[in-house]
Amino acid sequence: MIKITERIKEVEYAIRDIVSQAKIYEKKGHKITYLSIGDPVKYGFSMPQHVIDAIKKAIDQNINYYVASEGIQELRESIAEYENNKSNISLLDEDILITAGVSEGILFTFAGMLESKDEILIPGPSYPPYSSYAKFFGAKVVEYELSEDDAWQPNIDDIRKKMNENTRLILIISPNNPTGTIYSEKQIKEILDIAGEYDIPVMSDEIYDVLSYNEKVVNPATLSKDVPIIGLNGFSKAFLMTGWRLGYIYYYDPVEKLTELKENIERLARVRLCVNAPAQFAAIAALKGSKEYLNEFRRELKNRSEYIWKRLNDIPLISAVKPRGAFYIFPKIELKNYWKNDMEFTLDFLKEKKVLLVYGSGFGKKFGKDHVRIVFLAKQDILEASMDKLESFIYEKIRK
Ligand code: PLP
Repeated sequence: MIKITERIKEVEYAIRDIVSQAKIYEKKGHKITYLSIGDPVKYGFSMPQHVIDAIKKAIDQNINYYVASEGIQELRESIAEYENNKSNISLLDEDILITAGVSEGILFTFAGMLESKDEILIPGPSYPPYSSYAKFFGAKVVEYELSEDDAWQPNIDDIRKKMNENTRLILIISPNNPTGTIYSEKQIKEILDIAGEYDIPVMSDEIYDVLSYNEKVVNPATLSKDVPIIGLNGFSKAFLMTGWRLGYIYYYDPVEKLTELKENIERLARVRLCVNAPAQFAAIAALKGSKEYLNEFRRELKNRSEYIWKRLNDIPLISAVKPRGAFYIFPKIELKNYWKNDMEFTLDFLKEKKVLLVYGSGFGKKFGKDHVRIVFLAKQDILEASMDKLESFIYEKIRK
């Protein structure tokens, strides 16, 4: 065998790793219901026609060449304007770097900020690439508690307790994947105060910011006087462009502490040449065109979240907090002696009922365990059938 690195062995991504198990059943001829992948496009939501037209037009006009590494100028300007209008801040085009999804934004930021002995504070549970990439760069990942008893709100005392002189970043994901939590203004202020005391930036993943059902999501940059914010957002979820791989980093830098980081991340971006050029034109159209479709999208998400939340709480051994945004719910499972852990529960449910969920410990060993993540993007009849299957699965276990 050719020798491979220790760091690559550490990389995990539960959401896709678990799919290989479902494929085994599919090969044997079973039909699997996937409630595991956070991709609205796969479940039938689709982008508006003017966005499709824009990418076609760019291709027809032969804009099929390499473009600027930091992104097409007009897109950077449109994003600055979009963010400024949404959050009442004042970003410039030069504060925006176009990336191949938020995923590349995470990679770039960590490449610029983390090395061995550094620590990063991430919500527990949270979206897995944050811990995988941080570990990849040799950093220590410290999870701060999102408290289930407090509707998954961040435990500020826990954050404070876990800070030290090696902490380089505090991460906020609001609305959160996998819990659907939205951080309150008070909590964001407290996190900013802590970051300010330690003179570090806050990283803010805002990929679901316009997919809140009832309330406006508070952007940390609107509350920050002097704490730098590294914002991550993109076109995958709200703009329904998952497969086109397009996102951005924005730097909110009121006292100019990010200049060096920004310049060096830009140099790193040159190494990968550029991001998909036609998709960048489509993104300009998406930002400038009507966002009417979002109202229907949010309404659907809200209805499905309420349905699934009610159903889950009526099933023995299962309890769930109501999500407030995005398309995930993260129920707790009382494992008793029926299953050893959440992974075994997930595999057993797949084996018995052919429905795929994601095991909670894939979102954080400590705060994710004894849970599963369910994506509720599927149509109502599929959700209903899946909840019926979950209910019968549990009753068959406890009545045995
Ligand atoms: N951030 C969060 C919190 C996510 O849940 C996801 C995808 O599920 C991403 C980022 C990935 O975004 P992108 O498609 O822009 O890489």
